[in-house]
Amino acid sequence: MSKRSDLTGQFFGSLEAVRRVDPINGVSRWDVWCHKCNSGLKTVNQRDLQSQRYTTCGCGKKKDIKGQKFGRLIVFVRPTTRLTAGQAG
Ligand SMILES: [Zn+2]
Repeated sequence: MSKRSDLTGQFFGSLEAVRRVDPINGVSRWDVWCHKCNSGLKTVNQRDLQSQRYTTCGCGKKKDIKGQKFGRLIVFVRPTTRLTAGQAG
């Protein structure tokens, strides 16, 4: 068993590789859990993971404004951004 390809439990920034999922076009992919916001199971390419292209689910780029009020507006859960880089490679 090659240890190189087994990323289970490894951290890449705030992302923990949880499980391998079916590869697309020979590209290994992993479901990752974001520990920064403690939510969001995402699927990312192994290459992107190892190159530190993604270190969070995307929550690191903006502040978590969920639940905050802006005037009369209240922020609810915003749509999660897709992480899967379909055009990678
Ligand atoms: Zn996150």
